Amino acid sequence: MYAIKVEFKLNNKERTKMAQHAGFSRFIYNYGLSLMRQLDHKKDKGGSSKKIDEIQKTFTNFTKKQPEFAWTKKLSSRVYQTGFRSLKDAYSRWHKGLGKAPQFKRKKDRRSFSIVNSNGKVVLAAGKRIKVPTVGTFRLKESLPCRYVTQTFTISETAGRWFVSFSVDAERLPPLMHEVAEPTGVDLGVKCFATCSDGSKYVAPQPYKKAKTKLGKQQWRNRNKVLGNRRLGVKASNNAKKHYAKLAKTHAHVANIRKDFLHKTTTEMSRKYAVIHIEDLNVAGMIANHKLASAISDLGFYEFRRQLGYKQKHYGNRVMLVERWYPSSKTCHNCGNVQPMPLSERTYVCCKCSYVVDRDLNAALNLESVPSGKLKPLEP
Ligand SMILES: [Zn+2]
Repeated sequence: MYAIKVEFKLNNKERTKMAQHAGFSRFIYNYGLSLMRQLDHKKDKGGSSKKIDEIQKTFTNFTKKQPEFAWTKKLSSRVYQTGFRSLKDAYSRWHKGLGKAPQFKRKKDRRSFSIVNSNGKVVLAAGKRIKVPTVGTFRLKESLPCRYVTQTFTISETAGRWFVSFSVDAERLPPLMHEVAEPTGVDLGVKCFATCSDGSKYVAPQPYKKAKTKLGKQQWRNRNKVLGNRRLGVKASNNAKKHYAKLAKTHAHVANIRKDFLHKTTTEMSRKYAVIHIEDLNVAGMIANHKLASAISDLGFYEFRRQLGYKQKHYGNRVMLVERWYPSSKTCHNCGNVQPMPLSERTYVCCKCSYVVDRDLNAALNLESVPSGKLKPLEP
């Protein structure tokens, strides 16, 4: 199982509809929680799931029918079912010691709601439209590449944009033929994001650097705003709220550029190569190095590995990790000589056999021909 997340292309009417459903979900959660609190949920921890079932029944059979709750009839009833369910989940997490006691959701919290189709799984057609059961059919910014089967939909808003995500069974998809059947080494680096042993290169966009300047400017221009402080009881000014919304947009923009690049790269690689060898990078160790830290966390090596991992099932390829201390950059691919290679050295010039090769390509070639004893499969 893995999740697919796509952006909606909504008009104002549809945006309002989404916001209303998210509000309904928040209302249900808070309604259930306030009744639970009246039942003194902190003293008596047992049977919260049953209590919430009772609350839901009261809501369905009585509260919902009152004239002041007529507005709920215009909205999908699935939303209130999942609203109660997420309250149950919050309680069970708390009881298991996995989280804090459930808190009221605030209007400024991230807006989201879920739909579970009670009649089982539905088939989503390929293309630029998506039918969300009981809510409606909506346009998408990008089309779905193929048909999917799913039951659960989560709709959420990030920095003014609405997304839908749904989980898919990977097993249902047919394995594909790969263009390159032999193992392929992939070297990850700061200069060039990924270099493959067949010579192809993937250069990452550098959104962070550009956006950092923009962020700095934004923060400087808004330095005098009343930003708010919860502990001191100072509320953020309206202009500060506008500033926060803009800031979130810039952050989301950076994240989107990176996400887009990583998804495109990992999909292309998983399609093309049947067997991928990558270094088992000590990413935490690299981030401890101050000079590299921002460049590496910006690049998303972790995310790259995670995506390659779960896409294995989807595309039927295999990803193998090369043990951490294998000197892929320092070894000459021609004669096996090992020599020091400072990061600034972009070309490998072998001092024994005078072999000259691009630094990253040399590393990728070495990763490709790693003996099988130094490999272990990447678990998705
Ligand atoms: Zn050599």
